[in-house]
Amino acid sequence: MSDHYDLLVIGGGPGGYVAAIRGAQLGLNVAVVEKEKQMGGTCLRVGCIPSKALLESSHRLVEAGHDLAAHGVLVDNVRFDLETMMARKNKIVSGLATGIKGLLKKNKVTRLVGHGRLAGAGSAQVLGPKGETSLTYDNCILATGSSVSSLPFITLDYDRIGTSDQALSYPEVPKHLVVIGAGVIGLELGSVWLRLGAKVTVLEYLDRIMPGVDSEIAADALKIFKKQGFEFKLGARVTGVRTTEDGEGCVVDADGLDPIECDRVLVSVGRRPNTDNLGLESAGVMTNERGQVIIDGHLATTAPGVYAIGDLVQGPMLAHKAEEEGIAAVERIVTGTGHVNYDAIPSVVYTYPEIASVGKTEEELQESDADYKKGTFPFAANGRAHCLGDPNGKVKVLADARTDRILGVHIIGPHAGDLIAEVAVAVEFGASSEDLARAVHAHPTLAETIKEAALDANRRAIHM
Ligand code: FAD
Ligand code: NAD
Repeated sequence: MSDHYDLLVIGGGPGGYVAAIRGAQLGLNVAVVEKEKQMGGTCLRVGCIPSKALLESSHRLVEAGHDLAAHGVLVDNVRFDLETMMARKNKIVSGLATGIKGLLKKNKVTRLVGHGRLAGAGSAQVLGPKGETSLTYDNCILATGSSVSSLPFITLDYDRIGTSDQALSYPEVPKHLVVIGAGVIGLELGSVWLRLGAKVTVLEYLDRIMPGVDSEIAADALKIFKKQGFEFKLGARVTGVRTTEDGEGCVVDADGLDPIECDRVLVSVGRRPNTDNLGLESAGVMTNERGQVIIDGHLATTAPGVYAIGDLVQGPMLAHKAEEEGIAAVERIVTGTGHVNYDAIPSVVYTYPEIASVGKTEEELQESDADYKKGTFPFAANGRAHCLGDPNGKVKVLADARTDRILGVHIIGPHAGDLIAEVAVAVEFGASSEDLARAVHAHPTLAETIKEAALDANRRAIHM
């Protein structure tokens, strides 16, 4: 007889493990299937966490080498040890993975190791180290996430020509790293290696960086990144990547550019949903032309009792989006209601400075002919930013011209990723720009820039 679960979750990333815990909290008998030894998915193993660990370490190096002198803190002979940096990153990942294991245990979630696949309505199979097991379920949540996508004419060797997985663990600092794609991964991991001493050339197909980020903010970022030493080739259509005959380097070809020699290539042109060998057809789960599992407004797939969340489905590929969808799917299953407010999902790029936003970009508002008002405020006029030695960037508040409801907020500047939380809460509560402007903000804090930008949307900023 096969084991039966009220809820089966396939995939143990931030979407899957959070859904499993929420299911257990609501009294379900839950199993989560994860093929890797470590729980936590892309985000913990080869995504959010290791990248932020390296961004932090490399930022400390820049601070010690350059920025601290302005504070009168003199540090001689600044060097770094890549092995220690990598070991620190790995330790953070394994510590957090152990933490998730503990949370599953505490919540009495059964952890199944292996590759999970649907096997007809209400049934699944897990191919684990000890062979295949069958099980049945009342409801299933598919949370298998995404993998790196490449370009058809590039053969990845997962060494010199690799993806973010390799760029999180290069054994030495590349002399010249070519990044294909000026998206989030390219700029975050490009920043790490630039700070550690690599020459970094970014090739981007579009005529701008970070599509999806408000274009005014992206243009500000481009200027800052260039000053940091990034070299950008925009409007560059890559046509091929090859390793040199001696295997020691690579050559990247792009339309209109001379061949670019380098010692490593990071392909960061997006990610694709993981649906291989998932048994979708057996249960009647359909996918769209982008390979994403099709869901309705309640995260239900085309198969009864099967839900899908996170990178596997439409929407931004963000860990917190996956988590919220996991919770909403479980609450829908158990209580009949469950909801994600897609208008209030913050997004953060952890470059220096950080870039963070919630809601619509200005060009989205223009394209939809929205009647909006705009307020901005520079960090250069914020006392705390000066004390930090970081008075660069700005906050931009976009609000409905008639109702004053906040439509979008975009920040480039110090700790933008933390500052945006206030805005996400405000948007969640349907706040107006006046609500933000009237809320008391402690002084001196970076958050005062948000208040001032909201004041500026109503033409009454005080410090500008
Ligand atoms: P995943 O995290 O991909 O988890 C899916 C899990 O399912 C994996 O563990 C996989 O092994 C497992 N799996 C797949 N198929 C099967 C199967 N058939 N059976 C069993 N198990 C299976 N997002 C942010 O919000 N902030 C960041 O700072 C950030 N940084 C990132 C940095 C990098 C370098 C990368 C690559 C991504 C980053 N992301 C970030 C994106 C984030 O990692 C994803 O959006 C998030 O992990 C998606 O969660 P998920 O649960 O949908 O899928
Ligand atoms: P992305 O979609 O952010 O950027 C890909 C870039 O590659 C785009 O600018 C695109 O125009 C460019 N591109 C596509 N084809 C190209 C070509 N042939 N030549 C040159 N450029 C080309 O994708 P990504 O950076 O790989 O990141 C994948 C996902 O991971 C993103 O959706 C992102 O949400 C997520 N992620 C999030 C964070 C974060 O939240 N801080 C960090 C890393 C990754």
